[in-house]
Amino acid sequence: MITADIAPIPRTLLATIAISLCCGWCFNTSEAAVLKVIKHNGRDYVTAQNIKDFYRFTSLTIKDGRLKFLSPKIEMGIRSGADTLYINRILFRLSYPVVYKNRQYLFSRIDLDKLINPVLRPSYIKSAKRFRSVVIDPGHGGSDPGSKSRYGYEKDYNLKLANLLKRDLERRGFRVRMTRSGDTFPSLRDRVDFTNRISDAIFISLHFNAYNNSSAKGIETYALSPKDTGTHNSRGVKGSVLTGNARDAENIALATAIHASLLKKTKAEDRGIKRDRFTVLADINKPAVLVEGGFLSNPEEARKIASPSYLALLSTSIADAVVTYRNALRK
Ligand SMILES: [Zn+2]
Repeated sequence: MITADIAPIPRTLLATIAISLCCGWCFNTSEAAVLKVIKHNGRDYVTAQNIKDFYRFTSLTIKDGRLKFLSPKIEMGIRSGADTLYINRILFRLSYPVVYKNRQYLFSRIDLDKLINPVLRPSYIKSAKRFRSVVIDPGHGGSDPGSKSRYGYEKDYNLKLANLLKRDLERRGFRVRMTRSGDTFPSLRDRVDFTNRISDAIFISLHFNAYNNSSAKGIETYALSPKDTGTHNSRGVKGSVLTGNARDAENIALATAIHASLLKKTKAEDRGIKRDRFTVLADINKPAVLVEGGFLSNPEEARKIASPSYLALLSTSIADAVVTYRNALRK
């Protein structure tokens, strides 16, 4: 059995999504329900029915292997055998696919603890601390240009976006620090050490993507892989328990707020909230995310990213999401 606090949920990270009709979300977990663990291949799982009861979804419908959980404000869906979970139409990549066994659909306990629960109930994140500071990390810089488009280099777009975001966050009352403010390349270790010295911060690393197929497009947001799970990219440092894993719940909650806000405002393609062990996510002791704000290798997105108004839209989306995240935490 998983012990969990059971009480109303005051706020949601997904309140900004179109189908969420109000921000005063009153989605109760059931006082009668408990989560029961089932073993499968040595791993802990929980049944879909159990999740439906525990979170007091109004209904769980299953048709042709497609599961849909519904409550007045939340719609959560996935296909059996898939790792692509949609919560209010936002795509989350699970650490393990949903399994069908003995006429039950099973979700891994890791995904329940490290994704579903903190996303549905951010106010219950025990490790969450008050923060006033935001560390912005413009990726690459100096001798490392990152990706490039016909209009410019990733390192320069990252810095332009960072400067806009600094202004937007300061207007919302946050203190902002940057891992670089010019065309320099602090090492990844320097960026980690810089952030870890600031006591009351969250960390946002800004990047733009590239791929050898110019049709790839959209926004993806990364949070650190939980202990003993894989990645959705296979870049970054290997390792099981990393410094950043102490903030697993906050990491996914922050990623959710930022990703949902970016998609709502930009209408960009949703490439999902994914997991990886990038150095800056692995070794930072604060809530940390890495945003890939679009593809420089895609002609249409490259043109958008080269325009100041689009960078301004990305910036206000992220700044608003930081406020949403802060308000969703209990403290
Ligand atoms: Zn990059």
